Amino acid sequence: MNLTSARMLICGGETLAGAALAEEANRRGLDAATLAAADTSNWADPDAIEAAFAGQDPEVVFVAAGESGGIALNRAHPARLLESNLRVVLNVLGTAARRRVPRLVYLASSCCYPRDAAQPLCVESLMTGPFEPTNAAYSAAKLAGLMTCEAVRTEHGLAWFAAIPATLFGPEDHFDPDHAHVASGLLVRMHEAKQRNIPAVAVWGTGRPRRDFLFSRDLADALFFLAEKYDAAKGPINVGPDTDLSIAEVAQAVKKVVGYEGQLEFDVSKPDGTPLKRLDAGPLRAMGWQPKTDFAAGLRETYAAFCKLKR
Ligand code: GDP
Repeated sequence: MNLTSARMLICGGETLAGAALAEEANRRGLDAATLAAADTSNWADPDAIEAAFAGQDPEVVFVAAGESGGIALNRAHPARLLESNLRVVLNVLGTAARRRVPRLVYLASSCCYPRDAAQPLCVESLMTGPFEPTNAAYSAAKLAGLMTCEAVRTEHGLAWFAAIPATLFGPEDHFDPDHAHVASGLLVRMHEAKQRNIPAVAVWGTGRPRRDFLFSRDLADALFFLAEKYDAAKGPINVGPDTDLSIAEVAQAVKKVVGYEGQLEFDVSKPDGTPLKRLDAGPLRAMGWQPKTDFAAGLRETYAAFCKLKR
């Protein structure tokens, strides 16, 4: 599909991924409309969703909607996260299916994989074992979205597929220290410690878990690439950098970017979550796509955006 002449709708304008998609569409001069949670009563208002679809009559839809966050948010609000993401599945994907939207890319999550699946994670491992318990409710809702793409493709012959992103970070993040994923969470907490001359910052868990980090602009670039070129009949596809970092390495990188000179202390009373998450990005790499932003450069851009917000 040629995106330069396609009508596009991005659902989830308020999320890190959705905002990055909207920015990338803007940079590329594409005809994209954006729909956000606030316009749709947190995806509970089917009339508002239908009106947005009728207004843009999209040929391609990106679904980056639904509440998500780090390990603390998942433990505190599993029901809220499940409900928000199931609403997206029923109301957004439901509307798109009724309207027979020809192309849809649903943003799933690496949490859809079983906790103990072989690494690197390949799509063949989906649904072969239990979820990581700290985010099982959210994972179930995201897996429902992934399965909806498979079912709609089978039943209606539409070219829908799910993209499974690595751990995201980027300038469009919400920077909530308690609810963010690790990179933004540590960035905010180290920034505050630097401002207030606090001598030590807690890094949750042992620092040993490993994650693969994807910069939000690279994700948006990959999703546009896939929307243009990917054969949906192949099913879900991973979007990741094919490298991973330990949380201790992440903490050191954040410390350097923020310029925090205090100590880092591992707080082992906090959970580690999944020991290792690294997506097998081989299929995407074989299509010729690579990320453009290394972790430190992405962190610097993210920190600059955070400092701008604080001013
Ligand atoms: P996950 O990938 O779903 O487990 O979610 P997170 O990105 O929230 O956490 C990744 C890892 O980073 C876990 O092992 C956390 O314990 C660890 N971590 C260390 N410090 C922080 C922090 O300040 N915020 C978050 N969210 N995680 C942290």
